[in-house]
Amino acid sequence: MDLTIIPTYRCNSKCSMCHVWQHPTLPREEITLDTLEKLPSNIDNCNISGGEPTLRDDLMDMVDLMVPKSRIMEISTNGLYAEKIVPIVKKYPNIKIRFSLDGFHETNNNVRGEKDGFNKKLNGMKLLIEAGGKDLGFGMTIQDDNVKQLEGIWNLCREIGVDFATSTLHNGFQFHKSDNYFWSRIKVAKGIEKLIEQQLKSWKVKHWFRGYLNLGLIEKILGHDRLISCTAGEEFVFIDPWSDVWACNVRNDLLLGNIQDQNWEEIWMGETVKRIRENVSVCKQNCWMVTTARTAMRNTRIPQLPKMTVFKWVLLNKLMVSFGKSINFEAYIDYNKVYSDENTGNREKFLHRSVKKRITRKSEPHYQFGQFYNR
Ligand code: SF4
Repeated sequence: MDLTIIPTYRCNSKCSMCHVWQHPTLPREEITLDTLEKLPSNIDNCNISGGEPTLRDDLMDMVDLMVPKSRIMEISTNGLYAEKIVPIVKKYPNIKIRFSLDGFHETNNNVRGEKDGFNKKLNGMKLLIEAGGKDLGFGMTIQDDNVKQLEGIWNLCREIGVDFATSTLHNGFQFHKSDNYFWSRIKVAKGIEKLIEQQLKSWKVKHWFRGYLNLGLIEKILGHDRLISCTAGEEFVFIDPWSDVWACNVRNDLLLGNIQDQNWEEIWMGETVKRIRENVSVCKQNCWMVTTARTAMRNTRIPQLPKMTVFKWVLLNKLMVSFGKSINFEAYIDYNKVYSDENTGNREKFLHRSVKKRITRKSEPHYQFGQFYNR
């Protein structure tokens, strides 16, 4: 099982596609180490994300607690406080660290509302390299604003020897946004093709499978169905700062339980989980979140291996590029069938704006969206 833990909704970025920073949690109401202790110890990928996880003073303790429970330990951070990660990397050089980076200088700073964010992240990454980190990388949320810089950021990552992960715009309760739509679906989708070819040309096996993940992003951006059905609530769960356990971070009607009030067995073996899994199996949201997509790509029995369909695609296309041929994207993607909606989306920028934040208390309703769709 993969797990994402959100220890806080406090955040020091002001992203245009995620408004969680406008709805911070109160530190004293956030999930505690005692509660995390109740999680099982057979986790495959445990991702501590946010909000911004470095704003928790006990991040090191949290890592100490979760490392023995997990095969892969990951921290997803905006990278603005890299110095807080240095001691963690020194203690656990194999820990996976991903900094969100949404383009070069001005582009990143605008999309993410970060003053001098690009330079801070780049310098921060160098600190982690010096500290001996072995699994470091940047992660980019591909969207209209930064798709032209995709190859440039990939090259930057290769230059400094770090990994490159990608995701794209989604609507979801975690982001407090239900209007993340693309302005030009085809332009954004086409912009990913070159990256896939580069990834398949690489000698790192990990990159080849990223190529498949990116194929799924193209399908999602065009509004097509998912490449692989979702296994949220069965192979993936999401835990928010109030200790609520969700099947995923998109739909706010898939609540499995609360790990502070219940024990894990109660949540995992109860009646609710069965009902929620049935809901997931017929979910009409066309999402391809990295969290649930990479989980779905894995072999159910041996999570270190991919599903056969994924393996076949990767093998075939790796051979194509190795023999100097181009990938025939038209064979996989129907560019004539693009979902069109009238919603042009709303991603206003906050770099030079101050916005009054509103703390969400534990006693209040947390995610007040009505129905929304990812398509
Ligand atoms: S497909 Fe449905 S259940 Fe799966 S992550 Fe998306 S919204 Fe959640």
